[in-house]
Amino acid sequence: MDAAVVTVGDELLSGDTENTNATWICRRLDERGVTVERVTVVPDRVGDVARVVNEYRAEYDAVVVTGGLGPTHDDLTMEGVAAAFGREVVEHPEALSWLVEEGGYAREDLAEGTADLPAGARALHNEVGVAPGAVVGSVYVLPGVPDEMKAMFEDVAGEFAGVERHRREVVADEPESALLDRLGGLQERFDVSVGSYPGEFVRVRIVGEDPDEVDRAATWLADRVEAPDADHPEATGADDPDAADLD
Ligand code: ATP
Ligand code: MG
Repeated sequence: MDAAVVTVGDELLSGDTENTNATWICRRLDERGVTVERVTVVPDRVGDVARVVNEYRAEYDAVVVTGGLGPTHDDLTMEGVAAAFGREVVEHPEALSWLVEEGGYAREDLAEGTADLPAGARALHNEVGVAPGAVVGSVYVLPGVPDEMKAMFEDVAGEFAGVERHRREVVADEPESALLDRLGGLQERFDVSVGSYPGEFVRVRIVGEDPDEVDRAATWLADRVEAPDADHPEATGADDPDAADLD
């Protein structure tokens, strides 16, 4: 399964807000074996949201959109997603009744348009905030507020499923340019993908579908690189570098 992530918001493009939602969603999708092919930031404009969502829904198995929900004037994401499907935005009765019955809001306190979703959408309830999310075809629309987005993503996480991948990291105390022969050798010999990430040391990340193959590749490389001093705090590679807490 592959996917694209679309984050919506003028504040992301101006640098006022760091796009942590994109990183978080990419990691969660990657953990589930989904290959993320695109991350795009678009302004709060209906036409831009519609154009990108329309392109990506044709190209990828799933699209995750975040930001710009709710009834305020600059929240235009639902309209953009609806336009990508050639649909209108209409009040979703079940989303509205959930807000009143489960969310604890009085109907008269909810701003006009709070439960407006693209016609025919499946509503996603917002356990943390107010604005509901939506699923339209393969497009998942989530709030921008990180806690709301994360809670809603977890409700649908099971719908994102790809091939489980395994990873190992090998840390080398050599310049990246000096490692090129062994990185090439790794790719010739083993059915894995290899990424190298220079910093104080070079961290070589080995990823593959077969855990034994990944182990063999990591051992082969570890036997052939200069390891950092064992007492250095960054000396060891993680068995599963993505197992780190994502919060
Ligand atoms: P609300 O329903 O509260 O209006 P929303 O879905 O409309 O939420 P936005 O208005 O786009 O979300 O953003 C609300 C807040 O969430 C922003 O002020 C920002 O702090 C944060 N936010 C939005 N997008 C992102 C993002 N991509 N990464 C990190 N934080 C974000
Ligand atoms: Mg908003």
